[in-house]
Amino acid sequence: MTRKYLVAGNWKMNGSLKANAELLAGIAAQAASVPDVDLLVCPPSAYLESVGKALPAGVQLGAQNLSDQLKPGAFTGELHGAMLTELGCRYVLIGHSERRALYHETDLKAAEKYRTAQALGLIPVLCIGETLDEREAGSTEAVLRRQLEAVIDLCGIESFKSAVVAYEPVWAIGTGKTASPQQAQAAHAFLRGLLAERNANIAGSTQLLYGGSCKPDNAHELFSCADIDGGLIGGASLKAADFMAIAAAAQALAKA
Ligand code: PEP
Repeated sequence: MTRKYLVAGNWKMNGSLKANAELLAGIAAQAASVPDVDLLVCPPSAYLESVGKALPAGVQLGAQNLSDQLKPGAFTGELHGAMLTELGCRYVLIGHSERRALYHETDLKAAEKYRTAQALGLIPVLCIGETLDEREAGSTEAVLRRQLEAVIDLCGIESFKSAVVAYEPVWAIGTGKTASPQQAQAAHAFLRGLLAERNANIAGSTQLLYGGSCKPDNAHELFSCADIDGGLIGGASLKAADFMAIAAAAQALAKA
């Protein structure tokens, strides 16, 4: 089964009107050179409208978070999914480790947001991954299983027909410590196996991204792994040259 590579930039709480315009111009200059790669940028919500209007051809827009509420209403500070689609978002990150750790989002809350995202026409990018303590305690697979099964239990395996999963070991995010291709592939194979236990076709077509200090110099090795279908890129997505070099690594493999 061929899966398309997806290279997604998580800008986190970074950017300005000026910096975003420069970044988008850099991406636009090279977007045509990666025709076989899906590209996605996820700016802060304050910039979704302006980035959406300046989006280079072939690049999708995503949000970093959404409310779990199905209906709009009295939820100060929250963002309803329909507002995100109105601004042109196609994707939304769900359960990023920073939201889990800093904003106490539980597995159930992530699953509820995933469900709401799909109900409102967005493709969730479900982020899961173990901490360093969990890896050292030998519980990586148990953690991945718990985080993924929270969503499968609430939303069903069929929901993965329209979802992306990002394996992001917490110890590799923003630290410069990338998972080795072997570590990343083992986790991805485990996740695909969990999906395959329920539905082999869906498991075969779900894009599984790696995230955690993915850079131009390690993207090729990571993306060469059988179950790695691209990357969720934090720091390196803020520099057009780095982001597009990572996309070029995916393009070279897509064509190989
Ligand atoms: C992320 O935040 O999703 C991420 C992968 O960050 P970084 O690439 O900076 O490690």
